[in-house]
Amino acid sequence: MAIFESLSEAKFREKVHRFAKEHIAPIAQKVEGGLFPREVLQKLGRQHLLGAPFSKTDGGGGLGWSFEVIVAEEISAVSAATEMARLASGALYAAPLAYFASRAQKDEFLRPVLAGDKVGALALTEPGAGSDAASIKTRAELRSGDFVLNGEKRFITNGGIADFLFVFAVTDPTKPPRSGVSALVVPRDSSGVRIVKTYGLLGMHGANVVHLRFRNARVPQENVIGGLHRGFPILLDELDRERPAVAAGMLGIARSAFESAVDYSSTREQFGRPIKEFEGVSFKLSDMLVRLEAARLLILKAVRLLDEGKLARLEGAIAKLFATESAFEITHQALQVHGGIGYTKDLPIERYFRDARFMMIGGGTSEIMRFVIQREIYREKRRRSS
Ligand SMILES: Cc1cc2nc3c(=O)[nH]c(=O)nc-3n(C[C@H](O)[C@H](O)[C@H](O)COP(=O)(O)OP(=O)(O)OC[C@H]3O[C@@H](n4cnc5c(N)ncnc54)[C@H](O)[C@@H]3O)c2cc1C
Repeated sequence: MAIFESLSEAKFREKVHRFAKEHIAPIAQKVEGGLFPREVLQKLGRQHLLGAPFSKTDGGGGLGWSFEVIVAEEISAVSAATEMARLASGALYAAPLAYFASRAQKDEFLRPVLAGDKVGALALTEPGAGSDAASIKTRAELRSGDFVLNGEKRFITNGGIADFLFVFAVTDPTKPPRSGVSALVVPRDSSGVRIVKTYGLLGMHGANVVHLRFRNARVPQENVIGGLHRGFPILLDELDRERPAVAAGMLGIARSAFESAVDYSSTREQFGRPIKEFEGVSFKLSDMLVRLEAARLLILKAVRLLDEGKLARLEGAIAKLFATESAFEITHQALQVHGGIGYTKDLPIERYFRDARFMMIGGGTSEIMRFVIQREIYREKRRRSS
């Protein structure tokens, strides 16, 4: 199994790196000020940088998840909020459609999103159902040929801007979630869909995260994806695929913080010499690099498995846990290396620190990642002993 980056992956990275420098760096401060990066999503679509893993017939790049994580890292290194908007539309929303939708559904709901003309969002979390996703209550009832949707979804990234929402709802309350939940695409301009609130966030400014309410929203039957009551396996598949990409986004932020700490410690002088000459500073840089390298390898291991068509539940959870906790530690230490100026808005270090905090919560908390990992450990033990 090839673990390190191939030549084509390295060339692709250069392309995305250039794109991020040319098109995202100039607006990164505006995004931080609250601008939703819709134009960037359009440009990413035009450059075939949305949907790298999905087939070309579906409007994707026909490349693989090892390319998707490169996009995530390079964009997040410049603007993590822009990456959050891209990920929510081009991966979280798009992946279930790419793997489970019919041709007609893909043409209507996937292709325009991968082209960057439309925006998507994934709506799973509810006020009463966060880590325990199986306890969702949003209800979709079949009435006179349409589904009628009632319920609440909160913390939905892109939710206030998206053209399409990928919604998980209970379609058979008499059954357990595994066989009673369905996935539906809901156009956000459907009557009965309301944005109740847009959240203010600690970091990831520019990301659009909202609370949505559905009141008798009518959704055509044809918008059910992957078959009636087949929503739960779609959800599990989506979570397995999103974790390495989330991890790669955090790697991008951490890399930028590390690079800034290397530069600053080389030029900032105290006690008559550059601060890098104090081991109390330079050893922090060593620890940061070890974490960056380890995170990259864990992410690569997970995406190599996905690209071989294998399950990467354990590997994705390990990569997400390690990369997100490392990003938090690295941005924290990088801020420390910058001293007082790191705590000010004069440099982006404080932004990296705030942005990095999010992904220990989003996409499944660190505690849930540990839960998934231990479950896989004991599952493997049972498998070996049976
Ligand atoms: C900015 C932002 C954007 C988001 N974007 C989206 C989105 O686009 N779509 C979407 O559907 N959701 C989204 N989410 C929701 C996100 O996935 C959830 O916040 C996350 O899964 C945690 O759920 P919760 O907030 O309800 O916390 P809870 O589940 O209530 O957890 C609270 C605490 O209890 C811990 N805990 C819970 N259960 C266990 C357990 N079994 N063992 C140990 N500890 C446990 C948690 O780890 C956490 O520390 C977003 C959230 C935020 C903040």
